[in-house]
Amino acid sequence: MGRKKKKDELHSILADAYVRQKLVEVGGENAIAVLRSFKGKHSDEDFVKKLKIKISDVRSTLNRLHSEGLVVYERKKDSETGWYSYTWQINLEKIKRWAEEIKKEEREEEEGQDQYYCPVCGISSIVSFERAMENGFKCMGCENYLEYLDEEIREKVWQEFKR
Ligand SMILES: [Zn+2]
Repeated sequence: MGRKKKKDELHSILADAYVRQKLVEVGGENAIAVLRSFKGKHSDEDFVKKLKIKISDVRSTLNRLHSEGLVVYERKKDSETGWYSYTWQINLEKIKRWAEEIKKEEREEEEGQDQYYCPVCGISSIVSFERAMENGFKCMGCENYLEYLDEEIREKVWQEFKR
């Protein structure tokens, strides 16, 4: 798979507010920024330079994402210094499966609950009443106000999604 296509796929997974929230729960506050900045293989230091965050934060984020299998690493020993260096890569297949699981759980959890959505962002913005309230009834994607999602609109939104 080409790098561009991978990037697009990751982008569409990260466009989902619920998935992003779960990623932050799993990987901490820098999880999204770290995942977004992947372009192939990276060392810990690459993220420090790119994201201007501490190396300890980079490592803790990568380790937490790694424990879910969402990123993978290669370890190499420097023959001169004897130190190990790590290069990290995104595990896109695993992220896709993980995101699907998350979405399934979300649907099950929210079945029968009142839901809200953003008319601009469509299906990726659907949230439960509780989560809508937490965000002051604003869309997490674009800051528009959320609207109540009744059965009729739900059908319409899903149809648009499938097209
Ligand atoms: Zn929106």
